[in-house]
Amino acid sequence: MNRELNRLIYLDHSATTPVDPGVIKTMNHVLEQAWGNPSSLYGKGREAKIVLENAREKIASLLHGTPENLFFTSGGTEADNLALFGVMRCARRENRGNHLVISPIEHSAINKAAHTLETEGFRVTRLPINETGIIDPEKLRVAIEDDTVLVSVMYVNNEIGTIQPIEELGAICRSREVLFHTDAVQSFGKLDLNVTELPVDLVSISSHKIYGPKGVGAIYLRPEVPIDPVTQGGGQEKNIRTGTENMPGIAGFGEAAAICAQEIGQENNRLENLRNRFLSWIREAVHGEVLVNGDLTRRLGANLNLAFPGIEGESLLLALDLDGIAVSTGSACSSGSTKPSHVLTAIGRDPETAHSSIRITLGRSTTEEDLQYVTDRLAYHVNRLREFAF
Ligand SMILES: *Cc1c(COP(=O)(O)O)cnc(C)c1O
Repeated sequence: MNRELNRLIYLDHSATTPVDPGVIKTMNHVLEQAWGNPSSLYGKGREAKIVLENAREKIASLLHGTPENLFFTSGGTEADNLALFGVMRCARRENRGNHLVISPIEHSAINKAAHTLETEGFRVTRLPINETGIIDPEKLRVAIEDDTVLVSVMYVNNEIGTIQPIEELGAICRSREVLFHTDAVQSFGKLDLNVTELPVDLVSISSHKIYGPKGVGAIYLRPEVPIDPVTQGGGQEKNIRTGTENMPGIAGFGEAAAICAQEIGQENNRLENLRNRFLSWIREAVHGEVLVNGDLTRRLGANLNLAFPGIEGESLLLALDLDGIAVSTGSACSSGSTKPSHVLTAIGRDPETAHSSIRITLGRSTTEEDLQYVTDRLAYHVNRLREFAF
């Protein structure tokens, strides 16, 4: 906790969000009362089934889709894996093609699944991207081949917050009769996404990025999408994702979606305004270079990803932690060796600049007062670390 405000200033909402008190209440009701198995036919089962279908309706409604097309999973990761493995393996079984196209800035749930598919003999193309962090639809047009089955491009990037032109990308896929998947984990509940109007066939979403519990997510599937399940069992979720449903999680996810529905768009605008002011304060207070990673306008309101050339993002993160401020680095650490972020390198940052980056993601609790305090501490540390470095 910080000394001045006497509480944690949490600025890592793209990693996870605190669970909303209304969500906790809903989950407690399921744990204490509606604990039946929704597949059971007697009253206690039917009570649980109602909870399950209520949650499905609330979430599908936030996507402007029909509840019958929404399938619960254990999170965004499983939804992404199911989209790639399920669609590609089904296509191979039916001899419909062997080629997958993804963006170079996908979450590891897509990236690593694509890598596994490569080891199984599928062909994967990673689209080029420039310093804006936004895919040029023309690049997709030329990447699609006769045996392309699926294109997967995320709606909003989790590191730099850039918003991809999914409508154009999806339209290109439609015109070539290729399936289009989007990982909408970072945009869901924040930006409007209309699965009925947009040319998207599969959409991944997750609960814990929208003030719901962890370990639950969903995939939205257009009914005609040919997909093989990855799991086998009792046949729940129409066999798309079998296994007894995570009922408290699903109910919490539904409540979290209902709360987002009341503030969608509005909250994104509030955070965008706050973020822009915050950036101007930082630019005033910090001596020397401050670089914004990725396009600043076609970007989620909550996201700021900055490089401070000459300093280590990780040193800055740890210094801010002692001040009671939680941010993250642009680079993902993997057991001992710190590889620069694949997103930052894809948009043309050299490894050193990538390592000098931090990601700040605002959320519901973020106030102007918080960001003034963060500006002071951030500038103090950057200026101090820079003096030290030269
Ligand atoms: C968090 C995240 C995921 C993974 O979701 P989990 O529910 O944590 O498994 C996938 N894609 C993106 C873009 C994310 O931000």
